[in-house]
Amino acid sequence: MADVYDVVVIGGGPAGYTAAIYTCRANLKTLVIAGVEAGGQLMLTREVENYPGFANGVIGPELMENMRQQAENQGAEILYDNATGVDFSKHPFEVYVGEDVYRGRVVIVATGASPKWLGVEGEKRLLAKGVSSCATCDGPLFKGTSTTVVVGGGDTAMEYALYLSNLVEKVIVVHRRDTLRASKVLAERARNNPRIEFVWNSVVTEIIGDNKVEAVRVKNLKTGEEQIIKTESVFVAIGHKPNTEIFAGQLEMDEEGYIKLFDGMMTSVRGVFAAGDVHDKKYRQAITAAGFGCMAAMEAIRFIESGELEKMYQVSTNISPSRT
Ligand SMILES: Cc1cc2nc3c(=O)[nH]c(=O)nc-3n(C[C@H](O)[C@H](O)[C@H](O)COP(=O)(O)OP(=O)(O)OC[C@H]3O[C@@H](n4cnc5c(N)ncnc54)[C@H](O)[C@@H]3O)c2cc1C
Repeated sequence: MADVYDVVVIGGGPAGYTAAIYTCRANLKTLVIAGVEAGGQLMLTREVENYPGFANGVIGPELMENMRQQAENQGAEILYDNATGVDFSKHPFEVYVGEDVYRGRVVIVATGASPKWLGVEGEKRLLAKGVSSCATCDGPLFKGTSTTVVVGGGDTAMEYALYLSNLVEKVIVVHRRDTLRASKVLAERARNNPRIEFVWNSVVTEIIGDNKVEAVRVKNLKTGEEQIIKTESVFVAIGHKPNTEIFAGQLEMDEEGYIKLFDGMMTSVRGVFAAGDVHDKKYRQAITAAGFGCMAAMEAIRFIESGELEKMYQVSTNISPSRT
């Protein structure tokens, strides 16, 4: 099986590159299908101050370029294209990139999750210049500023607002309804926080600023009235979308499309592992994604050593590697 990789990693973010570094160092032939947006979410930010090992912080895309180089230096092959489909019902597993087929004895899924954006004027242009989708990541960059705007009404938005209230003088939550979707406890904590104000029934229609965020334009959906709110930062907290469409029908997922794990980092298919934001909606950090990548790789290495699937397929080629 000369054309079979030991490991095919799908995804070129912190989880995927870390997994590849570990599998290559175990002398496993590894392909990373890194995606057309290789580097992942950290390509959307500038200063990363919470990734250990960088006393003065590091620029997101630089960190990802280093991870990519490190994986390549260890022997990983990297393909800058999107996987378009998979077949985990046969072994070796098959991963499709358009017409091309890549086979792997194990697969590590590390396709991450994409933050949802508002899609309004100024948002893209001012990304990493005051616009962010991660308060834990970028909130401290605005410590001591006078105002920040959080958009959303769910748990994440309330968590962001509470977190930011310790850093910024005033947090303004803009929410399109007049009630919060967030859990009661979080909603009450936010409502009782004197530093948090709410602008109800309203949406942000524009983010204003030349080279950094200066204000947002907000429209009241009931009255049609518009107001400009001066702010140094905007945190968009309207959800994430896990990048799991190509695994539909192949891997078990929760109701939001996050991959379910069983037995450590193993998915519902034995020999297919998942790592990073694609299964983790709780921590969503580069360091945790990298940690999950390491864990998935270590389990994949042990799994390959066990020869479990090969033994299974020698006995009967009809047996699917599915968990049940
Ligand atoms: C604006 C912003 C700022 C942030 N700042 C920080 C910070 O300061 N510190 C911190 O710790 N965390 C930060 N984060 C969070 C951090 O970036 C993520 O938690 C982390 O990148 C998740 O890593 P991952 O490898 O799981 O997924 P991702 O980084 O999302 O990478 C997934 C990769 O998979 C690829 N992919 C998707 N689908 C396919 C496919 N079909 N085929 C092939 N490839 C595919 C994507 O192109 C991407 O390269 C920030 C996030 C954002 C959005």
